[in-house]
Amino acid sequence: MLQDLLSRAEDLDAADPLASFRSRFHMPQKDGRDVLYFTGNSLGLQPVAAQASVDLELEDWRVWGVDGHLRSRNPWFSYHRMFKEPLAAIVGALPHEVVAMNTLTVNLHLMMISFYRPTATRYKILIAGHEFPSDRYAVESQLRLHGHDVEQAMIELEPAPGTFELSDAQITEAIREHADSLALVLFSGVHYYTGQFFNLKMIADAAHAVGANVGFDLAHAAGNVQVNLHDSGADFAVWCSYKYLNSGPGGVGGAFIHERHADRADLVRLAGWWGNDEATRFQMAHAFQPTYGADGWQLSNAQILPMAAHKASLDLFTEAGMDRISAKRDALTGFAYDVITEIFGTRTDVRIITPADPARRGAQLSLQFDVHGRAVFDALTARGIVVDWRNPDVIRVAPAPLYNRFADVAAFGRHLAEVLQEVA
Ligand SMILES: *Cc1c(COP(=O)(O)O)cnc(C)c1O
Repeated sequence: MLQDLLSRAEDLDAADPLASFRSRFHMPQKDGRDVLYFTGNSLGLQPVAAQASVDLELEDWRVWGVDGHLRSRNPWFSYHRMFKEPLAAIVGALPHEVVAMNTLTVNLHLMMISFYRPTATRYKILIAGHEFPSDRYAVESQLRLHGHDVEQAMIELEPAPGTFELSDAQITEAIREHADSLALVLFSGVHYYTGQFFNLKMIADAAHAVGANVGFDLAHAAGNVQVNLHDSGADFAVWCSYKYLNSGPGGVGGAFIHERHADRADLVRLAGWWGNDEATRFQMAHAFQPTYGADGWQLSNAQILPMAAHKASLDLFTEAGMDRISAKRDALTGFAYDVITEIFGTRTDVRIITPADPARRGAQLSLQFDVHGRAVFDALTARGIVVDWRNPDVIRVAPAPLYNRFADVAAFGRHLAEVLQEVA
């Protein structure tokens, strides 16, 4: 049965319309051979075109100096504008709703400054349990900034005992339970630990129905799943570009602010000159006039070098299209799910905690081990398989549709079956 399943990989690769994209990335090597890379959810691979894109900006800086702001081939003055169309297509937004800027946690703080406006009675923030540390620190520090007690004001929602998913009903009930005191619902699009893809529109509707704002952290969702941000109705979203978006370590982040807030000069925000209307930006003494849309939240002039790598990567997303990327993700991760399920067989000490329903997950599968998890991880690593370990007990495996093949998943399956025998 496992052999039958694994033998299908070649046919699946032959029929894959995105197969050629693998050659557009640099694959790391171990002992002179390509590794099996399944960590695009942590750091995506380098697009081959990234080098030329960064070199072009270095050249123009060398040639033009300060005049490059207006005279370089991609003028730095308006550089950030090149990202609006491709990012909008990736996150399902209108171009003026998105902006490439800063990094994820910085953007999360900027968004909370505007959309977490607690009052004496409405001040709680609802988040998923076991949330990524940076998000928790950001939430805790925002609560303290406004003088609230973290214990009382940060509501963490855990899956029911013995389960790993947060059900839609559980989320909406929690929102209703805190209806009058809830100021903000802040959820991941895809949970970094379990890999669950949440129903963003349902969460946004439920939050708005009780008068709370809603924001999404798309660190593990951007470039992975179709989030349809505009239609979700979310007030804001933030993401990083170095995971599924393959834009390099520490790459430039992004933010979405829904169109209904585009010209709200009344919103409190931490302002900087790049968020000011271009027409008056250089009248240095002028009072701050936010520019329309997400651009009005920019603080500083664009970070050209990391953004050049981002541009090279987004070109690949534009070429492949999120529809095709999503279709392949479902097929590839579904294949991995079947292979791993077959290998785990009747064992009760290992399990996939990521939802079985393809509509409730993205590329990542989280394998939870009651025992020997770390030894399995180390043995896989020694074989040139790049997966990651998340304390206390999970190996995350994320086949990325732009550069992983079905054959990679089949090879992973063969190694995993052997390693489980060895470590037993
Ligand atoms: C990766 C990740 C981050 C990283 O934040 P940076 O500000 O980019 O360092 C934050 N939150 C979540 C949920 C993540 O997955």
